[in-house]
Amino acid sequence: MSKIPYRFYLTEDQMPTQWYNLRADMKEQPAPVLNPATLKPLTEEELYPIFCKELAHQEMDSETRYVDIPEEILEMYRIYRPSPLIRAYNLEKELGTPAKIYYKFEGNNTSGSHKLNSAIAQAYYAKKQGLTSLTTETGAGQWGTALSEACAYFNLPLTVYMVKCSYLQKPYRKAVMQTFNANVVPSPSDTTEVGRKILADNPDTTGSLGCAISEAVEKAVTTEGCRYVLGSVLNQVLLHQSIIGLEAEKAMELLGEYPDVVVGCAGGGSNLGGLIAPFMRDKITGKKDVRIVAVEPASCPSFTRGKYAYDFCDTGKVTPMAKMYTLGSSFIPSANHAGGLRYHGMSPILSKLYHDGYMEAVAYEQTKVFEAATLFARVETILPAPESSHAIKGAIDEALKCKETGEAKTILFGLTGTGYFDMTAYSAYHDGTMTDYIPTDEDLKKGFDNLPVVE
Ligand SMILES: *Cc1c(COP(=O)(O)O)cnc(C)c1O
Repeated sequence: MSKIPYRFYLTEDQMPTQWYNLRADMKEQPAPVLNPATLKPLTEEELYPIFCKELAHQEMDSETRYVDIPEEILEMYRIYRPSPLIRAYNLEKELGTPAKIYYKFEGNNTSGSHKLNSAIAQAYYAKKQGLTSLTTETGAGQWGTALSEACAYFNLPLTVYMVKCSYLQKPYRKAVMQTFNANVVPSPSDTTEVGRKILADNPDTTGSLGCAISEAVEKAVTTEGCRYVLGSVLNQVLLHQSIIGLEAEKAMELLGEYPDVVVGCAGGGSNLGGLIAPFMRDKITGKKDVRIVAVEPASCPSFTRGKYAYDFCDTGKVTPMAKMYTLGSSFIPSANHAGGLRYHGMSPILSKLYHDGYMEAVAYEQTKVFEAATLFARVETILPAPESSHAIKGAIDEALKCKETGEAKTILFGLTGTGYFDMTAYSAYHDGTMTDYIPTDEDLKKGFDNLPVVE
């Protein structure tokens, strides 16, 4: 084959028409989600008050290997997919590495992130079931934006609880969501019981994803015809995000390539779980030996310093309990700039795989991450989201290792989105006012001490 192009797009016809469910190939399943009242594994029916039926089914289905993507969802996917696989020639040159670096770019839609891939599916199934409204939370704003887009497309009213620090830092996010007709509420708020309680205990809190989730769930279960949807962590979200990995796999195959290392940032684990899905399948089934690296912020180190334990998915303890790497649902991370990675827990699927030694994890401080982001922007010309920049930093470090050893490895990383709404963070980096907060063991202990006891 002649030289590999900078940007490689699958054709519309080559876009996958099925999602891949990694659980079907896992040797051991993630631990079951528990009903917090009975401590018994939840049934699909018990999920119906929270999720719409098809999504509750996808959440619990660990057997169906490939799931057909409904035509209505494919129609909206085609507006912005397939997404490009980009060869980072300029970054390779800048680093002087023999490694080949590829990235799958998910920032080519208005939400500016991969989150639209699952938002469309979740809005579609809700509409199909005849539900009349949805609620959700958003941290950095990408999920809220993505879901607003999807809900506008399928004509479903939406309320978004937006983590307060992000609401204040990113006023234009709200305007975008309003353009798509969403009702945006800063969280914690006085519109829910759990919000009022959190405010009473901690009036100056800048909020957290965990507490915004509690508010959105409460609103959903107390409103007729309303359901809650979540943009990460859940099995169903990883399923929808597998489109990223399937496209990447197919594109690389057409280019005669296969990655030696796959790197992705990890907040709740959805982009990483989606990107790695087919490669992890090959690793589990013994077809290929690929290294998989999760990158997280040092300020919210769920994998690298968390505990593998049952925990609530939210601060208000209204959600079911999942076994995952967690910092404790009472852990409120510092107001670092990668809002999309400020979550105390981690996908149960990825937690299980990490626990069983199928993947590695590293944590970076945010100034190091912005250094990588700036370098990347200057040579590749894409302004990356702070979240995505964790993966950039991880990929750069892998490429620099290759420079030392002289190995020409093939590195694939997920560039999950763009950072146009994160200019406060970029300014802080340029002004030298950005700080690196790393929780002490004592800070973490407080979160661990509040873990529920499940015996
Ligand atoms: C939300 C978000 C993430 C992190 O979420 P995951 O569920 O871990 O993928 C990463 N990058 C961007 C751009 C995001 O919006």
